[in-house]
Amino acid sequence: MSIPTPRQPVRVRIAPSPTGDPHVGTAYIALFNLAFARQHGGQFVLRIEDTDQKRSTAASEQAILRSLAWCGLQWDEGPDIGGPYGPYRQSERAAIYAEHAEQLIENGRAYRCFCTAERLDAMRAAQKAAGEDWRYDGHCRDQDQQQAAARAAAGEACVVRLAMPQSGETAVPDALRGEVRYENFRVDDQILLKSDGLPTYHLANVVDDHLMQITHVIRAEEWLNSTPKHLVLYDAFGWEPPVFVHMPLLRNADRSKISKRKNPTSLEYYQRAGILPEAFLNFLGMLGFSMPDEAEFFDFDAFVAALDFGRISLGGPVFDLDRLQHINGLWIRAMAPDRLAARVAAYFAEDGRSTEVAALVAERIGSLGDWPHHAAPFYGPGVLAGPETRYLLVGCGSKKKKAVRLSAKASRAFFEDLIARLEGLPEFTAEPIEAALREAVSAAGAGVGDGFMAVRVAITGRTAAPGLYETIAAMGRALALVRLRAAAAWLAQPASAQAEIDALERDLQAYRDALGHAAEAEGASA
Ligand code: GLU
Repeated sequence: MSIPTPRQPVRVRIAPSPTGDPHVGTAYIALFNLAFARQHGGQFVLRIEDTDQKRSTAASEQAILRSLAWCGLQWDEGPDIGGPYGPYRQSERAAIYAEHAEQLIENGRAYRCFCTAERLDAMRAAQKAAGEDWRYDGHCRDQDQQQAAARAAAGEACVVRLAMPQSGETAVPDALRGEVRYENFRVDDQILLKSDGLPTYHLANVVDDHLMQITHVIRAEEWLNSTPKHLVLYDAFGWEPPVFVHMPLLRNADRSKISKRKNPTSLEYYQRAGILPEAFLNFLGMLGFSMPDEAEFFDFDAFVAALDFGRISLGGPVFDLDRLQHINGLWIRAMAPDRLAARVAAYFAEDGRSTEVAALVAERIGSLGDWPHHAAPFYGPGVLAGPETRYLLVGCGSKKKKAVRLSAKASRAFFEDLIARLEGLPEFTAEPIEAALREAVSAAGAGVGDGFMAVRVAITGRTAAPGLYETIAAMGRALALVRLRAAAAWLAQPASAQAEIDALERDLQAYRDALGHAAEAEGASA
């Protein structure tokens, strides 16, 4: 099956909101859009949806552009390079949306709503108490529109709402699902224009997709339920809607929707962890899609040639870090040694943290050649290996007789508690990290030295490393969390943890025996 291409030329877009770290989901959707555009000789547009003024930042927008460019997902039109349908940043298009909202009011498909926050709160509470979903009750829908216009002109605060049809159904034609039907009376009278005069996502998105002549909206499944509102808007404006393709949601290993609690979701993490962008695209291209020959190693051009939306599977694809690592390895091994050497050098040169890492490891290096060994923990995803792993059992590596030794279960609880504390830090710098560490150690009832040792080993794979808080800060939150989660996962395998405990007990016994022998020998010689 191929998806319909009703209008030429094909124009597709991604429309990220710059409200946080650049997300893996954005790159995933961008890949399928760009490949589809290339397959049809069309255009790929990058539009910044920054209508949420409180949460949008310029830094986030910059990071999104940088990360997509790192992936090699280059757009043909966008806020940085312009294009014939600009501006490509919604905050610069406010007048366009206001004008379109006015048009809808005039033709009776939208209305001004003056309900106060108090009234809406009371309505929300009553609906909740009755076990109903939140819906606006239509209070302002039937008022005289001329009077409403006069109230608005006199400066009374209001929003503009979509007048959803109150009966019948809206059928959403989705290229992957066939028709998905929605009962109109269940769909809310969505706010289109807020009281500050700025649009909500729904209005801005539809107006822009139309004005930018987007032919295919390829986006994440989470927007499917918004599509009936969008179709009603297309109809209200008298516009032909684009083809809709809702891609499956990416999932954590436990099949929940991908979240930064369980997976690194920032594209910057993958760049920092030494994933090759080619490998990253290869990996994304296998999420919910498979090549006709089931190949697991392919480049972007091969993906473009093979992309067929009929091969998309809707059972939520799992974002599997081990698989990504495996694909990355394939790419590395396929590279000529001179290219690989150049890429490695570029990776370290571009990382931007060399100065910070140098400041931390300088006191441990005697020659420049020592650098790779000491700097290694700051790069790449994994560090856990070898006999040090046993120190993850908090206190179990301690040679002190009175040390508090936590079980594998309690050690794991300690790591999970620490992960939650670090996730919640507003600033990821040495001081708050130290406080979080100390609190977690004390909550677990462990010794400070032992708790810190467990974390040091989880974070660096070593028992000796530069200052712990500074190291964690320089490593960055995403990488630190990946390592702490790996430690918790290791502790969740009781067999391996128990084997380590047994080995450790044997070592300790041997150590005590040796001490005993030494004491005896000393006694004998005295
Ligand atoms: N601004 C939405 C987002 O952040 C765009 C969704 C869409 O593609 O329509 O994902």
